[in-house]
This record gives sequence, C-alpha cells and structure tokens, in this order.
Amino acid sequence: MIIAPKIRGFICTTAHPEGCAKHVAEQIAVVKSRGLIENGPKRVLVIGSSTGYGLSSRIAAAFGANAATIGVAFERPGEADRPATAGWYNTRAFEQEAAAAGLYARSFNGDAFSDEVKKVVIDAVKADLGQVDLVIYSLASPRRTDPKTGEVYKSVLKPVGESYTNKNLNTTTGVVNEITIEPAEGDDIRQTIAVMGGEDWELWTDALLSAGVLAEGCQTVAYSYIGPSMTWPIYKNGTIGKAKEDLERVQHALDAKLAPLHGKAWVSVNKALVTQASSAIPVVPLYISLLYQVMKDEGTHEDCIEQMDRLLRERLYNENPQPDDAGRIRVDDWEMKPQVQDIVAERWQQVNTENFQQLGDFAGYQSSFLRLFGFGLKGVDYDADTDPAVGIPSLEK
Ligand code: NAD
Repeated sequence: MIIAPKIRGFICTTAHPEGCAKHVAEQIAVVKSRGLIENGPKRVLVIGSSTGYGLSSRIAAAFGANAATIGVAFERPGEADRPATAGWYNTRAFEQEAAAAGLYARSFNGDAFSDEVKKVVIDAVKADLGQVDLVIYSLASPRRTDPKTGEVYKSVLKPVGESYTNKNLNTTTGVVNEITIEPAEGDDIRQTIAVMGGEDWELWTDALLSAGVLAEGCQTVAYSYIGPSMTWPIYKNGTIGKAKEDLERVQHALDAKLAPLHGKAWVSVNKALVTQASSAIPVVPLYISLLYQVMKDEGTHEDCIEQMDRLLRERLYNENPQPDDAGRIRVDDWEMKPQVQDIVAERWQQVNTENFQQLGDFAGYQSSFLRLFGFGLKGVDYDADTDPAVGIPSLEK
C-alpha cells in the first residue's frame, strides 16, 4: 500500500511504518549523541509509551541509560488496506531498535485504565524484571472507563466560569481567526478530572506497591503543563488545569506512600510541543507556532526527546531535580523564560492571518505534526509500496 497523510482537522488518520521507524531512530540518535546517563534507571515502566512524551521517555531511558523497559499503550493495529495508528508503528520500531541494541523491551496494547491491563503488566514486571525503579505516567486520553463502576468519563477542553474568546489557528490553512469557547457545564470538571487527573496514577502506584514490584528508591513521574497567561483560561484555569491540579494532589499522596521505600513521586511540568494530544487544544497551536519561532531563533528549541533526555539526565538522575516552590520539576524552564515569553506575548497581540508566516513558525508546526505520523522524514521513500499490517514483536510471542 502507498500511504499518504490524510488530515482531518487536528488528526491525521493515516501513519507510515517506515516514517515512524525513522522518527524513532532519529530520537534514539539524539539520546545516544549525549552519552550515557550516569546512575540512570535500569528497569522502567512507561504508561502511555507509544507517542509524544511517553515514547520519548522510553527512548531516553533505554538508549540513554540502557534500561529495560515495559511500555503500555492503546493503539490500533494495521490491516492489509488500512494503516495502523502511529503509536503502533513507533512501538514496533522501538522494540526492533532495542533488540538490536541488546535491550529488553516488552509492550502491552490495551486500556491502561482497566484492572486487567494493570494485572498483566504487573505480572510481566514480576516475571521479567522483578521490580522497576522508575514509573512514567504519560497518558493522554479523551475518555476513561471507571474500573469499579463502569462509568465512562469524558474529558473536555473548556474554560471554567465564563466563556473565553481569543485568537486561534486553523492548522491546515494557516488562517488566524477568533474562537469563543463556552464554559464547562454540568459535571464537565468532575469528568475531566476523572480522565486526566491523578486517580488512575494512584491506582497504578497502589497496585504496583501492593504487588511489591517497586524497588527501593523508586521514582514515579506524571506530566503537566502550565504555560503563559494568554492560554490560562483554556489550559491552567480550564477543565484540563483542574485535572492537572488533581495530579499534584495525588503526587503528595504518592510521596507519602513511597516514603517507606525512600521513593519519590514527581509532577514534571513540560514544554508545550506538538503532539497528538496538544493539537486538539484550541488556541494552543497558535501559541506553539509563535513559541517555536522564538525558541528556534534563540537556539533553545527542544522537542519531546530533548525534553525527556534533560528530565532524566539533569533532574531525576543527577540528584539535582531543582523543584519549584510547589515541588514540581520544571523542564518548561526555557519556554517560560521572560525574554521568550515577552516576545511571544508581543507577537500574540500583533498576529493575524497576513503576518502569521513571518511571526510564527507555521512550517515548523506543520512538519512537526506530520512527523508524529511518520510523514516528511528524510530518507523515507513515500512512493514505495509498504505493508501496513506489520506487528509489534513482543505482542506476537
Ligand atoms: P500523546 O497523545 O502523544 O500520548 C498519549 C499516550 O497515551 C499514547 O501512548 C497513547 O497510546 C496512550 N493512551 C491513551 N489512552 C490510553 C489508554 N486508555 N490505555 C493505554 N494507553 C493509552 O500525548 P502527550 O502530549 O505526549 O501527553 C502525555 C502527557 O504529557 C499528558 O499528561 C499531557 O497533558 C502531558 N503534557 C503534554 C504537553 C504537550 O504540549 N504535548 C506539555 C506538557 C505536558
């Protein structure tokens, strides 16, 4: 099958197996070029391991610290005439690269929110690794089924209290217009917290603890975002921000639970980057396009892999995590530097459809988006016939 991008709004419904493999290989090369992470993690569980920050965390641990990794994700396999999701191909490529490097890697494809998946994953940790010393929690999902009650929660991206109007980018056409988003209603906040808050992170940690598979000194990290004030009504102070507050509540609870192991729970605040999850948030893609331009001009732009490499290498495993006043790790530090934010804020006031190409990095946004699905990577022959129905090695055993 010849596979080309098919973009529908903020998602691409196709993905390219060789392109995704190249994307994974490029990330591995970044980590390897930085050398070994001294005293890095050796046995790592990544929940949400197939794309975005979770995939990069897995790559940084494996190829930066030679860690054995178990990954959990929820992806759709390909069929003879239909490509798999990008995360499926990424996971396949990651496992192939890990095998070639002599690294243990095993993956699970299923609903991480369910008790069943937790059980099979924990059984695998016990059988194959004994224990883990790092657990990364990097799920982004629009819904979650409560494992106890069966209730299906839906997460929404809405402001809280009042409607929010701001500039917005049509990421397909480059048109900058205005969008108004109505505030959360009914139990939108409760449902969003149930999906993207800390409850499931705590359920995972409880299950891992009671199975005795967390090693002495084990660390666990979940990811958050704060960003600048122009996005606060839709992010930090919106429904998703309420869920991120809940993550911090759980981080404190997990700290207490991990204390007997001399372990530690962290919330890491990461940089705004183009991922499948962030492209769905209104207003944020315009902010990201402006931010990329400023950070590229400044020479401080990072992608998920540089962020996650820095998190492991310079915060979690160098005994200098540099927490902020609220105890969070901040690898959004370069994004939030005043000299970066001042320029972004100024351009935010000026930006419109006509000047957007000069003020923002639209080409960078679009190419980052396509790369998520394995398109636009150098050295990949997109005119060649490819088999979309390839498998993930550890799932075929
Ligand atoms: P992403 O969409 O790229 O990755 C989501 C991952 O979750 C994938 O591996 C997917 O397979 C997995 N997943 C989703 N539902 C699942 C389920 N039910 N069971 C198992 N796996 C499931 O998203 P991302 O942007 O990398 O986000 C990861 C975390 O990082 C989120 O908490 C997000 O809020 C946070 N974050 C993102 C940004 C950003 O700009 N993208 C910035 C800061 C923090």
